[in-house]
Amino acid sequence: MTTAVDLVVYGARQLLTLAGKGTRRGAASGELGLVADGAVAISAGQIVAVGTTSEVLQSYRAPREIDAGGRVVLPGFIDAHTHPVFAGSRQDEFERRIAGATYLEIMAAGGGIMSTVRATRQASLEQLVGDALPRLRRMLAHGTTTADAKTGYGLTTADELKCLETIRILGKRQPIELLPTFLGAHAVPEEHAGRADAYVELVVEEMLPAAAEQHARSAGHEASAWQPLACDVFCDEGAFNLEQTRRILVAAKDLGMTLKLHADEFASLGAARLAAELGAVSADHLLKTPADEITAMADAGMVGVLLPGTPFGLGLSDYADARGMVSAGLPVALGTDLNPGTCYCESMPFIIALACRFMHLSPAEAIVASTVNAAFAIGRSGDLGRLQPGYAADLLVLDVDDYRHLAYRFGSSLVQMVVKRGEIVFQARDSLTQTQSRKGDHDQQSAN
Ligand SMILES: [Zn+2]
Repeated sequence: MTTAVDLVVYGARQLLTLAGKGTRRGAASGELGLVADGAVAISAGQIVAVGTTSEVLQSYRAPREIDAGGRVVLPGFIDAHTHPVFAGSRQDEFERRIAGATYLEIMAAGGGIMSTVRATRQASLEQLVGDALPRLRRMLAHGTTTADAKTGYGLTTADELKCLETIRILGKRQPIELLPTFLGAHAVPEEHAGRADAYVELVVEEMLPAAAEQHARSAGHEASAWQPLACDVFCDEGAFNLEQTRRILVAAKDLGMTLKLHADEFASLGAARLAAELGAVSADHLLKTPADEITAMADAGMVGVLLPGTPFGLGLSDYADARGMVSAGLPVALGTDLNPGTCYCESMPFIIALACRFMHLSPAEAIVASTVNAAFAIGRSGDLGRLQPGYAADLLVLDVDDYRHLAYRFGSSLVQMVVKRGEIVFQARDSLTQTQSRKGDHDQQSAN
């Protein structure tokens, strides 16, 4: 007796299931749930069975069966922190920076983020969508199947709502699932220079309620499960101070939003402790976070989102103390921080390579940080980031026979195939063998 399903992927030399519940921390930070010669059965976009190839092939038949050919199969990457909606690019600033100018100097001189804000304000909705699509295509080709997506280059109510709408449209036009995060407090816009409190007032009184309302309205007529909008604030030297940040996050929480925070990238202002106090799901960057605030985050059940692409992008040698966080029992997640200023990176495998070299995560810990722990950071630990029954069938086939190649090699893509919700959404040029019919009577069965 075999059960008819939609898709079977078998013959994985290493199937990384990440099976279990919730986040992974401490001594469990590198548990991959590895099944040798593994297989998965998929129906209606969900994993229905996981086991060895012989177990799964004995019990399940599908019109499409993919032989992974001894390669590695793992959950699709979840990019826990991205800024994918923007117009223009800043290669001129990059060139200046590598010649010696700092990020804060460029920002103080009115360059940097404000040049992206000006371009984004001028861009139409369709232009923003069109500009972001190729970025998302490259993210997908590098194995990202779900991503956080922040606004934050509009910085007026109308332009922030335009960026939020861009994210919603992008979520329908390509396979990567996008979880929107409102980041109206990304920077103080130039028309509010020297009047940051007045800008915070605008964010709290006008932007947040408008963003929450637009999110609720757009989600109301969509089939996918509704999830509250997330709110993030850039709390740092040169951005928003602790009191301004508190005001925005408290208002967001009152509107039912999930809280996240850009914390301690350049200086410690107490942002990580504030995030813990207010019940945020994550605080991100954490380069300068004191040990007692890391402990406060761990005690509050948060995830620390680490973004090693950003110091790398800035040519800096300072990285977050990931080993200290693992020792303190804080689950760590990874993200690209894709943005046009400090880190124009679309590749989670490259972030994994950096995380292992500069933050000393093991390859297994970096994979956990890019799957189950990242799922928690975007509020989706219940259905994403694992290959186990009931979870979304989001998976990758890597063209290697050992998962450690992911961290060991860098600069070229090892992603052979990407499956999102049971659909093959990306294949490298030399595609895998797909059985259209297996010996037996499955053609009849699959007609049911
Ligand atoms: Zn960011």
